[in-house]
Amino acid sequence: MPFKDLSLDPRLLRSVQHLGFVKPTEIQLEAIPAVMVGRDLIVSSKTGSGKTLAYLLPMMQRLLKSRPLTKQDARALILAPTRELAKQVYAQLRLFVSNTPITSALIVGGENFNDQDKILKRKPDVIVATPGRFVDHLEHKSVFINGLEMLILDEADRMLDLGFLEQLTLINKAADHRLRQTLMFSATLDHAQVNQLALGLLKNPFRVAIGAGY
Ligand code: ADP
Ligand code: MG
Repeated sequence: MPFKDLSLDPRLLRSVQHLGFVKPTEIQLEAIPAVMVGRDLIVSSKTGSGKTLAYLLPMMQRLLKSRPLTKQDARALILAPTRELAKQVYAQLRLFVSNTPITSALIVGGENFNDQDKILKRKPDVIVATPGRFVDHLEHKSVFINGLEMLILDEADRMLDLGFLEQLTLINKAADHRLRQTLMFSATLDHAQVNQLALGLLKNPFRVAIGAGY
């Protein structure tokens, strides 16, 4: 099935074409329609299976189609375990936001806090962040997520291995409301902490498990 059969916004399809992608990967084919009907999602699949687009595309679709729930809050938050990973995700995101009105920011550790504070005060719609630095800004009230529409955890297992459970729990509480959709990605689900986190974060999630993971 080609991407064009997924009922995505034409602007998103154009970006996908620009990347030279014709067909969704197995994981994208399962995940995108489920997220588009509003389901929470938990995915386990190995590296290289195309998880980034599996969340970026339906996230962008929701942001383009729905009105913001509030004026002051971020609309989507993508968390990744390391600066490098967050930067890679942000680079992919930029391809999709570039021909839309959606604004975005990258918020990772090791960079100037006050500069980031200024960026956050411009109220970007989508934030890609590492959990530690994001919580610093949340506590500093540079950013508000009470009306967050999408919370996405990329490489949740690695975030837990790096000791981010406390930050993830705090973020989950700060964005706790009925209309929030939550997507969680992990290389494996044979991880007690990952399952525990999923119970706390996800509502009746659609599960996609492809391959054995690693
Ligand atoms: P994962 O997060 O599962 O490790 P990525 O999202 O990083 O996987 O994607 C792995 C590679 O596959 C990237 O180079 C990405 O650009 C490419 N890719 C993703 N989706 C497709 C697709 N539908 N068709 C072709 N290549 C794709
Ligand atoms: Mg990935």
